[in-house]
Amino acid sequence: MPDEAVPAPGTPADAPAAPGGFTGLGVSPGRAAGPLMRMAGPPVLPPARPVADAGAELAVVGKALEAVAADLRRRSAAAHDRTSGSGGDDAAEILDALAMMADDPMLREEAEQGVRDGLDAAHALDAAFNRHREALAALGGYLGERAADLDDLKHRAVAGALGVPMPGLPAPGHPYVLVAEDLSPADTAGLGADVLALVTEKGGPTSHTAILARGRGLPAVVACAGITELADGTYISVNGVSGEIAVGVTEAEAARILDEESRERARLAATSGPGRTADGHPVKLLLNIGSAADLRPGAEGVGLFRTEFLFLDRKQAPSFEEQVAAYTEVFRQAEQVVVRTLDAGTDKPLPFLGLPPEHNPALGIRGLRVDRVLPEVLDTQLDAIAEAARATGADAWVMAPMVTTPAEAADFARRARARGIGRVGVMVEVPAAALQADRLLEEVDFLSIGTNDLSQYTFAADRQHPGLADLLDPSQPALLRLVGACAEAGRAAGKPVGVCGEAAGDPVLAPVLAGLGVTSLSMAPVCVPAVRDALARHTLEECRERARTATA
Ligand code: PEP
Ligand code: MG
Repeated sequence: MPDEAVPAPGTPADAPAAPGGFTGLGVSPGRAAGPLMRMAGPPVLPPARPVADAGAELAVVGKALEAVAADLRRRSAAAHDRTSGSGGDDAAEILDALAMMADDPMLREEAEQGVRDGLDAAHALDAAFNRHREALAALGGYLGERAADLDDLKHRAVAGALGVPMPGLPAPGHPYVLVAEDLSPADTAGLGADVLALVTEKGGPTSHTAILARGRGLPAVVACAGITELADGTYISVNGVSGEIAVGVTEAEAARILDEESRERARLAATSGPGRTADGHPVKLLLNIGSAADLRPGAEGVGLFRTEFLFLDRKQAPSFEEQVAAYTEVFRQAEQVVVRTLDAGTDKPLPFLGLPPEHNPALGIRGLRVDRVLPEVLDTQLDAIAEAARATGADAWVMAPMVTTPAEAADFARRARARGIGRVGVMVEVPAAALQADRLLEEVDFLSIGTNDLSQYTFAADRQHPGLADLLDPSQPALLRLVGACAEAGRAAGKPVGVCGEAAGDPVLAPVLAGLGVTSLSMAPVCVPAVRDALARHTLEECRERARTATA
């Protein structure tokens, strides 16, 4: 976001100029400061050595794998204790899944075979993990992305076999800003209370680092080139909204930033009520969730229920009954819910669909387009949503992802309405849809703008590519003009047009989006207080002025 136009709320206007700094992509709001500590790197594998006692090497293999699994389970239990009652069990689940990978008997058997073939324990483990990694990567899609998790396990197991410290989180005995090239799910999930903020060289807005940092309410900046070159102990400040890192802050400045942040959080936590500009113009504050576990109080409903998150690892299609149960659980706890039908493809492959690999998956059969080849999937899901809504009496709205043409919108609306679903909408995620927002609104009752994909397709920049973070920035005028066009179409039709991409949770952009005319903002629960506050600081006319500046 251009700073001269809209300074981040909570950022003191008279903050001293940073003596030096870096800029990455702010992915989890808040500010923090303190000494940085880098994560221990992976162990260096020494040259292979002749094996004198194969039995002893086999024991080392077993112990190393067991130690990795036990460590992950210990951290899972700690993560579970930390989050119990808050519903945030993502970390524990990730750690448990990794522990199961470390326990895989086939992996152990392969490593042991390596020893029997003459390798020492460390090399046998290295080779077995590498083979498993290749096999997983060859599967592509979601499972292919899990291949990187195996590298993390390999480094831990090899370190155990070599008797060197396991790579992973530092434990300096004082609060610190964690700096790393990238964070594995195991690292991110095991973060202790002494971590003030996260900064990584790699990663994007949808990386594990980003998702878990938001879940924990930790400020985080990703795609920050060069940050790992700073020495341990260097004092830095981190702005999780603007992505700015100032280097060389004094201890006193760091203490002041932490103090300001904790007062700011206390102030935000005390705010409540519906989203309103300073002069009372309503902008609904809604939640993005992947399951009932993500629900939190304080918002006005659910603006995006990503139903595919329920079924990401499934090999069999979820049955009608299973789906009814999952939707019912959410409908019972939230008054108004916008359910998005399954959004499969690219970053969210659903193995149970059995879709063939594609040359260019982001432009292929994804989102609503799956309906072209497997229409029964959408029919079953709409049946299940309608049934859960009937059973609970919930105000259930439904919307389709990746809609491109008015004809697609019309077909989706017809099928949803035929089942008695009262409010039917579509997501605007491709420029063609934004440019025909008025035509789409002739077919449906509302639009929800997915700025994550709309940025990807508007700027022809892969949303997972850390090197293209600047092109994915939703505050660019071209993207905001598309948002404005949709909002204007909504105003003319008298129908709601919301934003549910990550941009909606950015307190700097929120007044701009309100000024463009969007009627709701749907975001990760942790973002709600700051966005509510940002809206309340500006009149509608001030929001419009910001929108004019931002789209110029
Ligand atoms: C989006 O694309 O902005 C969106 C909300 O959908 P997802 O991030 O799930 O693709
Ligand atoms: Mg999307």
